[in-house]
Amino acid sequence: MSKLLSTVSRELNIDLKDVFAWSDSTIALGWINTSPHRLKTYVANRVVSIVDRIPANHLRHVSSPDNPADLGSRGTTAGVLVKSQLWWSGPQPPDYWPVQKLQIQTTSIPDMKSTALTIETHQPNEDITSRFSSFSRLIRVISWMYRFINNARSKLPDRVFSSQLSVQELQASETVLFKLHQQHFMSKQLASLKTKMAVSVSIPLHSLHPILDCHGILRVGGRLPQSGLSYNQCHPVILHKKAHLSKLIVHHLHTDYFHAGPTLLMGLLAQCYYMIGARRLVRNISRNCVVCQKTYARTSSEIMGELPSARIMPAPVHPFLATSTCY
Ligand SMILES: [Zn+2]
Repeated sequence: MSKLLSTVSRELNIDLKDVFAWSDSTIALGWINTSPHRLKTYVANRVVSIVDRIPANHLRHVSSPDNPADLGSRGTTAGVLVKSQLWWSGPQPPDYWPVQKLQIQTTSIPDMKSTALTIETHQPNEDITSRFSSFSRLIRVISWMYRFINNARSKLPDRVFSSQLSVQELQASETVLFKLHQQHFMSKQLASLKTKMAVSVSIPLHSLHPILDCHGILRVGGRLPQSGLSYNQCHPVILHKKAHLSKLIVHHLHTDYFHAGPTLLMGLLAQCYYMIGARRLVRNISRNCVVCQKTYARTSSEIMGELPSARIMPAPVHPFLATSTCY
């Protein structure tokens, strides 16, 4: 149609600015009003060819009731055709043309270029605890982060602006760290407990009869609930000895209790935590502590020379007949 219009207007010396083309195809008009780079190659080339001849705003939409060509192309009965004003008189003059803005959803237009979108979900494998060398510092950093998140989610009156962290905030951070730790190292045990309410025999730690506390932390089941001991002592938190968090906790206890030795450390550890094979970790922490190395370092000793006979043999005549000074 654009070629025909172009040729006819050129031959008849009609300015194309005064020419309007009408189409009943919303899809074709949708293509024309879409940027060619978003269309498939064939359609994009056709669109460029049309728009080069006729400006896009001179291509308009005509609905079926207003389209005289519809009667001829789709067919109609003689009775309807005889009475059709549109067929015999043609369209209305330009002053009565409908001013309509054709709204076409881009998603409903066929032959659009499909945009490949690759989404990569990244499960953070990095252990956040590995960035820290101090357990107390780790807890405090996590607490400040949660303070910020909670404040951002709360309304102004509910926000906390204290410069000090509360015990509840520190405990909540500990809980989060333990949960992250156990999700990483004990996912099988957690899944088994959540689904079957018990750890399968085939899964390690089964012999501990682990339980989940109210926060979802895996703890030793044990037989001491009636003992009067604290909840942490009855049901210590299960930790993996190879995790950095475990090292931080042992190191924290070691320094907190004035560089406690391995035996005391094992006792302190058992009050809150359960680690299989913790003794080796505890020894390593104690052995590698710089302060402990300096304090308990063995001093060098030299081999003493032989004692002179006058100092070890009885005096021949009188005591103190022969004397000497050792300096
Ligand atoms: Zn030490």
